[in-house]
Amino acid sequence: MTAGNAQDVMIRLEALTKRYPGQQVNAVDSLDLDIHTGEIVVLVGPSGCGKTTTMKMINRIIEPTSGRILLGGEDVTKVNSDQLRRRIGYVIQQVGLFPHMTIGENIATVPKLLGWDKGRIADRVDELLDLVGMPSESFRDRYPKQLSGGQQQRIGVARALGGDPQVMLMDEPFGAIDPITRDRLQNEFLRLQGEVHKTIVFVTHDIDEAIKLGDRIAILQEGSQIAQYDTPEQILAAPANDFVSDFIGRGASLKRLNLTRVADIELRAWPTVSCQTDPQAALDQLRSVPESALLVLNANGSPVRWVGADDLRRAGHRPLDRVGMPTSPAVGLRATLSDALNELITARFAVTIVVDDHGVFRGVVDIDQINETIRAMRAAAVQQARAGLEDDR
Ligand code: ADP
Ligand code: MG
Repeated sequence: MTAGNAQDVMIRLEALTKRYPGQQVNAVDSLDLDIHTGEIVVLVGPSGCGKTTTMKMINRIIEPTSGRILLGGEDVTKVNSDQLRRRIGYVIQQVGLFPHMTIGENIATVPKLLGWDKGRIADRVDELLDLVGMPSESFRDRYPKQLSGGQQQRIGVARALGGDPQVMLMDEPFGAIDPITRDRLQNEFLRLQGEVHKTIVFVTHDIDEAIKLGDRIAILQEGSQIAQYDTPEQILAAPANDFVSDFIGRGASLKRLNLTRVADIELRAWPTVSCQTDPQAALDQLRSVPESALLVLNANGSPVRWVGADDLRRAGHRPLDRVGMPTSPAVGLRATLSDALNELITARFAVTIVVDDHGVFRGVVDIDQINETIRAMRAAAVQQARAGLEDDR
């Protein structure tokens, strides 16, 4: 634990409280929090727990009902809020770039408000575009809509850094970005922070993002109540209570499903029948198994139809590839368990069909197998976290 003397603290929240008009409960209820200079502190918690309200009180987009905000030891609870906002960079999910302004003009917003001269502003714009990896010559004069979502988000970060603020507030900045781009933006963000060393408050509902980015994580419950405030390592190894362990478990588990491939788990068998089989024989077969449908395979061994008892009774002597219902898309062996889960949610009989590279049926994935895998991965992760702590001693 880093020693926290008063000078180290960049942001101090004291009994910070917000009750929205007409509400019975406080959206943020007497929050005390110290954020140390140069650290990334991640506020993570379920939707509605008060993260955004907390952030917007720090730069006073929302006025606190009571409590105090100290910035570098100075009470800013009552200072001019426009001036305060120029000292605090703010990045939000939908970026909020001004659509009618060029990228360069967007980034220049705060420097202009601060009254910098033209030359200094132009240099700053070039410097920031360089910092976020977007060459000034190609991007400075474009408009926001001419950029991809990921590029717009980078500009959002560059704009927030414009006036060289001590503090950056980032509210789910990568929330609307596809997972691959998000991963890249997270890595860039960490590289960037290695250069700029800002004090950053970062909000997310994604525990994996919190673990990846945070020097310290505050896990919040309803009313911005702190369930645990500690380093990611410590939170993973020693969750303070059930709320924290549940929260780590859920979010992290679903993400971990991206790390396991269908080929890595033992597939469940499912009764199959060839499309040449007579419906009556298929019905006899179905009666002898616990499953409520058979999977019909074509001459290649590829799954084509589901047939249930009712289908078969009504089938007469029709070939089985014209009976029952078509199968939903199968996944391949290289698909992740996350892909398999996606299919499973909408699939018939709550199973995802798995085929090999030639489209030949290999088995199914069901929810029990996914649960089992999650459990095993969590146990492994906790063990790893504990082992890591042992090593540190
Ligand atoms: P989070 O960012 O963690 O999802 P918010 O800070 O947006 O949560 O919201 C916290 C709580 O305050 C929620 O219950 C939300 O419905 C409520 N809330 C947010 N904004 C307002 C508002 N303007 N008026 C009334 N209630 C609000
Ligand atoms: Mg929010």
